[in-house]
Amino acid sequence: MARRGLLIILSSPSGAGKSTHTKRLRAWDPTIRFSVSATTRTPREGEVNGVDYHFKTEEDFKALVTDGKMLEHAHVFGNFYGSPMDPVRDAINEGVDVLFDVDWQGAEQIKDSPLGQHVLSVFFLPPSIKELRRRLETRGQDSMEVIDKRMDQSWDEISHWRSYDYVLVNDDLDATEARLRTIVEAERQRRDQQPDLADHVRQLQDEFAEGK
Ligand code: ADP
Ligand code: 5GP
Repeated sequence: MARRGLLIILSSPSGAGKSTHTKRLRAWDPTIRFSVSATTRTPREGEVNGVDYHFKTEEDFKALVTDGKMLEHAHVFGNFYGSPMDPVRDAINEGVDVLFDVDWQGAEQIKDSPLGQHVLSVFFLPPSIKELRRRLETRGQDSMEVIDKRMDQSWDEISHWRSYDYVLVNDDLDATEARLRTIVEAERQRRDQQPDLADHVRQLQDEFAEGK
């Protein structure tokens, strides 16, 4: 039975585990595509252009927005971020799921877009604020100044938790991953994710009518 792709949105305060769960979910099901965002942020060590992000100048980013190429965009931590539209549309039509690592503003815009009916949104909460800071520090990718800035803004992100379909406290990594997989598997069976159901039921009806 054919199915439509889901737009799987993962959000959380910075450091709560979006990237980790993005990687794990794609390792579990490699058919899930990652929506590579465009950003004006400077690349971190190890980040690859076109794989982690499409790194853009502010001018190029604004041109993409003006030309209507973005499904959503937002200003986060002093930089612009946005999700290009075309790869998402292609994936949905091919019945392939797309994973988004976006903030609450991006999640809202995607839900309000014409593709909103295919959204599955998940918010990760940290087990505690102390643990959130510890994770940001042990990730070792940001300066103390940047970590402080991200911690300052984490409440703003957390305050949007009610807008998501599912909320997971990312305590034990494996247990949280298992819960996320269960959610994805269930959501794939949603009636409006299965475009061929009406035809199938019609077929069943014909069989009934024929007395089978
Ligand atoms: P985000 O993408 O939300 O900013 P990351 O996925 O980069 O966060 O996670 C931040 C840090 O916390 C990483 O070093 C990651 O390995 C670690 N981490 C993520 N989830 C857990 C967890 N459940 N338990 C312990 N450490 C975790
Ligand atoms: P980072 O700089 O740590 O990679 O990401 C910072 C924040 O920007 C995270 O909350 C992340 O989810 C968000 N983000 C990344 N890409 C996008 C995007 O395309 N759109 C929006 N709205 N937020 C994004």
